Amino acid sequence: MSYAKVLCVGLVGVTGHLVEVEADLAAGLPAVVISGLPDTALHEARDRVRAAVVNSGQRWPNRRITLNLLPATLPKFGSAFDLAIAAALLGGSGELPLLPLEGVVVLGELGLDGTVRPVRGVLPMVAAAAQAGVGRVIVPVGNAAEAAVIPGVRVRAVDNLHRLVAFVRDGTPLIEPPTAVPAPLADGPDLADVAGQQLGRRALEVAAAGGHHVALLGPPGAGKTMLAERLPSILPELDDDAALEVTALHSIAGLLPPGGRLLRRPPFQAPHHTATVPSLVGGGSGLARPGAVSLAHRGVLFLDEAPEFSKGALEALRQPLENGRIQLSRSGGGTVYPARTQLVLAANPCPCAKPSGDAHCECTALVRRRYLGRLSGPLLDRIDVQVRLMPVRAAELLAPDGDTEPSATVAARVATARQAAATRWAGLGRRMNAEVDGPHLRRPPWRLPARVTAELRGRLDSGSLSARGFDRVIRMAWTIADLDGRDRPDLDDVREAIQLRTGEAT
Ligand SMILES: [Zn+2]
Repeated sequence: MSYAKVLCVGLVGVTGHLVEVEADLAAGLPAVVISGLPDTALHEARDRVRAAVVNSGQRWPNRRITLNLLPATLPKFGSAFDLAIAAALLGGSGELPLLPLEGVVVLGELGLDGTVRPVRGVLPMVAAAAQAGVGRVIVPVGNAAEAAVIPGVRVRAVDNLHRLVAFVRDGTPLIEPPTAVPAPLADGPDLADVAGQQLGRRALEVAAAGGHHVALLGPPGAGKTMLAERLPSILPELDDDAALEVTALHSIAGLLPPGGRLLRRPPFQAPHHTATVPSLVGGGSGLARPGAVSLAHRGVLFLDEAPEFSKGALEALRQPLENGRIQLSRSGGGTVYPARTQLVLAANPCPCAKPSGDAHCECTALVRRRYLGRLSGPLLDRIDVQVRLMPVRAAELLAPDGDTEPSATVAARVATARQAAATRWAGLGRRMNAEVDGPHLRRPPWRLPARVTAELRGRLDSGSLSARGFDRVIRMAWTIADLDGRDRPDLDDVREAIQLRTGEAT
């Protein structure tokens, strides 16, 4: 027999596709030809596979070897095809009877010594196998726990090529995946730790309930970071589909925590202001690594000291904020990763970052305006909630316990409010208030009565509020009404929304 094939999976974005690795061995000058749109890593695979096969004590067939990865039109990145290539090659040369691998997806990178190394993206690969009706997978032992997360698939693991050969030849058992570790309860910081900060807490709750982006402006010590870190704790848990998608992205980044379970809590990403554009949006050779904005998909992206980010970095976030995904252009085909995230910006009022009113701050009004001006345009334009926070006063800090609600209480209100919004906007195909377009808000049946919007229209006419700002206040007013369990915003809701938009008390 001089032909064999083994199943594998290739990833395009977060979606896996079954790939058949074919090996054909013919008489002729010894050579290895790989076809089927391979990237550089696949050409390197040829050398890795040869060394691994020889160093595992197997005979290297000195024939003309043609390896073909089907479908040829599918772009293929990364090193997860190594193990399937080695198996197909040994099958084709007659060294191994491949019957035990029929209908089995084989994943793994080979080291030169025959070690099977973990690869990124195993979770979405196994999910794709399950989707395609393949019930059995063999994965690197380092990926066994994450592979076992996908229900309905029998997972077995290998630590080296020799073990796979022994399994195929004699039925020597493979390694079983570890049993899943139960998720720790209530991990992450809680709002109960935040003393005072009524405005900041309210801004966070409204943002969570309506899906609004937030800007927190204020001097050091105002608790901006503390608040931002707690936004995930009041967002609803991820449903099955979202959890799978989020876990897949972290799998592709190689950042899954050990233990093997779906990520259920909305993720939180806080890239430093020196972050490069690729680390924010994704990139790299081989299988592209998702950037912070994709790792924050269905969760929170926190930009602390936002004006300090490079212009290029802020500009690069424009696309994902507009359409919820990021397109990475690369040779051999583009990669699209989801990136629907809730943005929280924090900024000091001025570049010297001294407390407001501090005698040492010598920043002029112009310097301050310029500093925050760096955020205008692509980012600030999309942010509904913009509040100015003050440093926490001693009286607030020392308030008795019980004055600060825990995250669970707030999260329950948020969940109810989100449900009301989802029901209301279902006909428009929207789920959250932040997603509803301005024209819908300004037309019947959703237009608010003149009595309710009088003050807002006054601000629009006097130029103190832009047309966009008008829509943003209306959106937030809906969220405030949802939180309060009323089916229409009233005058007080609009007033509070103005406060959350301008930072002014009314
Ligand atoms: Zn200053």
